[in-house]
Amino acid sequence: MTNPLLDFNDLPLFDQIKPEHVAPAVDALLAGAESALQAVTEPAFPAEWTAIAKVLDVASERFSRAWGAVGHLNAVADTPELRAAYNEAMPRVTAFWTRLGSDERLYAKYKAIDPATLNPEQRQAHRNAIRNFVLGGAELQGEAKARFAEIQERQAELSQKFSENALDATDAFAWYAVLEDLDGVPEDVVSAARAAAEAEGKDGYKLTLKMPCYLPVMQFARSSALRERLYRAYVTRASEFGDPAFDNTALIREILALRQEEAKLLGYPNFGELSIVPKMAESADQVIKFLRDLAAKARPYGERDLADLRAFAAEHLGLADPQPWDWTYVGEKLKEARYAFSEQEVKQYFTAPKVMAGLFKIVETLFEVSIQRDTAPVWHPSVEFYRIERAGQKVGQFYLDPSARAAKRGGAWMDDVRARWLRPDTGRLQTPVAQLVCNFAEGVDGKPPLLTHDDVTTLFHEFGHGLHHMLTRIDERDVSGISGVEWDAVELPSQFMENFCWEWDVLAHMTSHVDTGAPLPRPLFDKMTAAKNFQSGLQTLRQIEFSLFDMLLHTRYDAATAQPGDVMALLAEVRQEVAVMPAPEFSRTPNTFSHIFSGGYAAGYYSYKWAEVLSADAYAAFEETAGANGEPSVETGRKYREAILEAGGSRSAMESFKAFRGREPQLDALLRHQGMAEAQPA
Ligand code: ZN
Repeated sequence: MTNPLLDFNDLPLFDQIKPEHVAPAVDALLAGAESALQAVTEPAFPAEWTAIAKVLDVASERFSRAWGAVGHLNAVADTPELRAAYNEAMPRVTAFWTRLGSDERLYAKYKAIDPATLNPEQRQAHRNAIRNFVLGGAELQGEAKARFAEIQERQAELSQKFSENALDATDAFAWYAVLEDLDGVPEDVVSAARAAAEAEGKDGYKLTLKMPCYLPVMQFARSSALRERLYRAYVTRASEFGDPAFDNTALIREILALRQEEAKLLGYPNFGELSIVPKMAESADQVIKFLRDLAAKARPYGERDLADLRAFAAEHLGLADPQPWDWTYVGEKLKEARYAFSEQEVKQYFTAPKVMAGLFKIVETLFEVSIQRDTAPVWHPSVEFYRIERAGQKVGQFYLDPSARAAKRGGAWMDDVRARWLRPDTGRLQTPVAQLVCNFAEGVDGKPPLLTHDDVTTLFHEFGHGLHHMLTRIDERDVSGISGVEWDAVELPSQFMENFCWEWDVLAHMTSHVDTGAPLPRPLFDKMTAAKNFQSGLQTLRQIEFSLFDMLLHTRYDAATAQPGDVMALLAEVRQEVAVMPAPEFSRTPNTFSHIFSGGYAAGYYSYKWAEVLSADAYAAFEETAGANGEPSVETGRKYREAILEAGGSRSAMESFKAFRGREPQLDALLRHQGMAEAQPA
């Protein structure tokens, strides 16, 4: 039997990988990586960068590529068999990486490499490697070392379980509504709900907590009772109020305790400080201060936003005392009244194929590449595959998996399949390959899928990550593209791309009405622009609330003395300080806060805001150099591409930023873009 997971000729054989391939592939690759580790750590093996890479990096890259493919399928085509195979193999995989990252002999070998023999890219990768060894426990001895490994393994299990619980709790909910309940809900959402019920041989309309269903119900359903039903289910997912099998409460406490223990073992006072070490920010305190400064600036705008909502709800919707499940609805109604358009109206112009073509056009123009359809084995018939070329040369390739479906994790993300790398084994350049995953609603009644403007922004965002990964010119694997980029700077290229979703010149070419084919009318665009910063005060405060909660949870919460309920108490305290909108007692949003409990954003959620400062300031350079019709300057595009995208992780984010902008980042552009620069509201 040939195992598709062991085929490294080119792209992963996603169409052939079966759950039964996982264990034997992991066995074989693990053995290969172990013997490579053994070989390079022999005393006689030379302490030379390329010699080590030729043996160890080649073996470990195979391992991570194969395991990456399994993890990817687990995220986008989950089955009980695959999940079992994944979970069965995971402890061995984690244990290996932990061992590799803390191997004293390998650490010594790397330390023995003479930096004078390295080129600048290699030197940066080498510096990162030494730092990661220290953070990976390489300097720990005996019992502490063993305990450190145990902690890593347990954390990996817990974060996987956390994510499963969040998914299962989301999927476990269904409400079969009758048509009268759905008054106000957009037609395409109603059709999809009917189709979902029909597929199960059921009457009525199947409503779920998946975004393409949940959000429009919260925005548009006139029935407050229906909104309340979905809202309660949504904010209590994976908590003590639902199926105990999916409750994440105990997992959160254990994860926090383990992180604290890990930080202490490495000599840091708490996990927050540990988490900052490889980041652009200099300390947890600097982050907390940054968040509190921004909160102070946003607060008056948030208060104004809330007062607007309350006044509108009382006057026009008969809601004297809006409940938590009313705010989204009230917000949508106020937006409609104030700006005289609805998201539904806008959506009719954003058909998926036209949006993709528009996105590709801007990327092609600005970054001097061409994007073409390409072929590769895929995991679902709706998945598309593309290649990026410059001057006839392949630069990179990417998969696009756009639609929401069962057994696919929610949200949107970019993942790397393989990195750009001048391979030490073959001497040939390996081109980068990326995954772009979104969760857009499917088209109904034979029409193309319609995207909300939010969906479009998300697509641009993820594509920005993809460009960072694919347009890099760095040949050293560990600092090419997104690899080696500081976590809190990694959102710069993604958030940067979102700005184009607000440029008339871009939107005019990216829209086509689903029935008439007409582009987005200018008056509607003007209304959208006017509405752009609608409730930006509230939104900013919400992001700061999550960020501050995350950082305080990892600096101030003490797992050793914590009582059950302390996590929620800390959140309540943060809300007291930052939020202006009351949150209900029963809400358990930390229980599905996957970013920090299973996604790598622990003590790092602030990165979104931090990078927003960078991306807004970077985009300001394009505003300053735009043409007469607002078309972006190709020259600025080239400068940006070279300084930020192509440099990847080969130097610090601050150096790259300064290379592009000629100075350190400033807060003004962000506040201005979000309408919080004018004189404070009364
Ligand atoms: Zn992102």
